[in-house]
Amino acid sequence: MLRKVLIANRGEIAVRIIRACAEMGIRSVAIYSEADRFALHVKKADESYCIGSEPMAGYLNIYGLVDLAAASGCDAIHPGYGFLSENANFARACKERSIIFIGPDSDVIQRMGDKTEARQAMIAAGIPVTPGSEGNLDSVDQALSVAEKIGYPIMLKATSGGGGRGIRRCDTPDELRRNYQRVISEATKAFGSADVFLEKCIINPLHIEVQVLGDHHGNIIHLYERDCSVQRRNQKLIEIAPSPQIDEAQRQYLGGLAVLAAKAVGYTNAGTVEFLLDYTGRFYFMEMNTRVQVEHTITETITGVDIVEEQIRVAAGLPLRFKQEEISRRGYAIQFRINAEDPQNNFLPSFGRISRYYAPGGPGVRTDTAIYTGYDIPPFYDSMLAKVIVSAITWEDVIKRGERALRDMGLFGIKTTIPYYLEILRHPDFRAACFNTGFVEQYPELINYSNKPRPEVLASVIAAVMAAHTGL
Ligand code: ADP
Ligand code: ADP
Ligand code: MG
Repeated sequence: MLRKVLIANRGEIAVRIIRACAEMGIRSVAIYSEADRFALHVKKADESYCIGSEPMAGYLNIYGLVDLAAASGCDAIHPGYGFLSENANFARACKERSIIFIGPDSDVIQRMGDKTEARQAMIAAGIPVTPGSEGNLDSVDQALSVAEKIGYPIMLKATSGGGGRGIRRCDTPDELRRNYQRVISEATKAFGSADVFLEKCIINPLHIEVQVLGDHHGNIIHLYERDCSVQRRNQKLIEIAPSPQIDEAQRQYLGGLAVLAAKAVGYTNAGTVEFLLDYTGRFYFMEMNTRVQVEHTITETITGVDIVEEQIRVAAGLPLRFKQEEISRRGYAIQFRINAEDPQNNFLPSFGRISRYYAPGGPGVRTDTAIYTGYDIPPFYDSMLAKVIVSAITWEDVIKRGERALRDMGLFGIKTTIPYYLEILRHPDFRAACFNTGFVEQYPELINYSNKPRPEVLASVIAAVMAAHTGL
């Protein structure tokens, strides 16, 4: 087993990995920028090292981090998500220094991190893929002719994109002409690569993804699916496991498809195969994420498998502890990404001091976060502050639990997406388990929700006050 792990990340995922290490008797090493001096992961780890005054550079410094891991006596690095987690050079640099990279092989990261290469690998493996360009696009003229062939609307995408960025829908040749350079320059800035490709835009699809786990002994299993269709601007807001919108036959088919995809590329460690489901019931491979995902929590909740612990065990060379038929599922879990954003002001980031915070609790509630009362949110990083995960046996009950937990949570001093999620939970279509990736945009009234007490609540308060006064 590993003895000491460097966590090349920050925030809630760093804390999550430290917790897994603590339970496994593994020493944890945290890193932090000057801006993160008072961050929770720094306090929770067994050891912490400052990696410079620049907010981002240290977290992205491949050789600096590998050297630090070696110098501090670590035998492995966990990259978390974001930052260097899908950087094949980082995985390679670890290997060169005999440090275990907790993730798949660098070649697999490289192949799957390139969305066009991933598409080609999947086509070769017989996995259905969204129709699109064969590889990257050479020119706007080529883009126009491919788009003409597959039909509008199309999605223009950055080949090495992620986090919902570097994607533009184009409904006409004119739009494609206008967006072509725009996506290229966005991609160059954000991902350091000018490669773009295009694929058919599936209108209002469901985003359904499958969690897979592979070991170094040839075993690959899946842990069922997550429904991440509640999105805003291609970014996930709420995730659900299992999907309340597919049936058991689709579930089995999709699980099998994901395992096939993972086998086709010799996948090891934890990964996610993302699919789109169109209104005719067809699934299309979209991309594979070669890392732990933000929403791994809900899969842990319904299956009881600790995914981060399993990642560490697999990286240490141990076989998976479960066979496919041993993976069971219980009820539903929903994750809410609590972002420091103002939903009433176009989701404008809202940074500053958290004046008071207390976590929601009680049965079926889990909170993953790195915030605390008095914490100053630095403006340099992701706006996700916390993940609230609720679970219950039925869809009706998990919604009620979500409402209760979000109301239970105390988070003051900044604006958050909590009131927005309460509106979504009240929406009849959400309650009826009927929503797709267009849900948030289709219902602008969700954005203009009112913070005022609802009339029935107000009426009951007035009645109570009146009653108290009559009693006097
Ligand atoms: P998930 O796929 O786990 O749901 P997200 O897409 O929300 O995760 O991304 C999680 C974090 O990782 C975000 O901070 C996002 O900006 C970052 N991220 C994801 N992919 C990339 C990428 N290719 N390049 C840079 N950052 C990325
Ligand atoms: P990222 O790497 O940023 O996660 P993805 O390729 O996974 O990018 O796409 C992110 C989201 O964009 C999807 O969940 C979906 O909502 C939307 N999307 C991507 N491709 C398509 C498509 N071909 N048709 C319709 N929606 C798409
Ligand atoms: Mg994706």
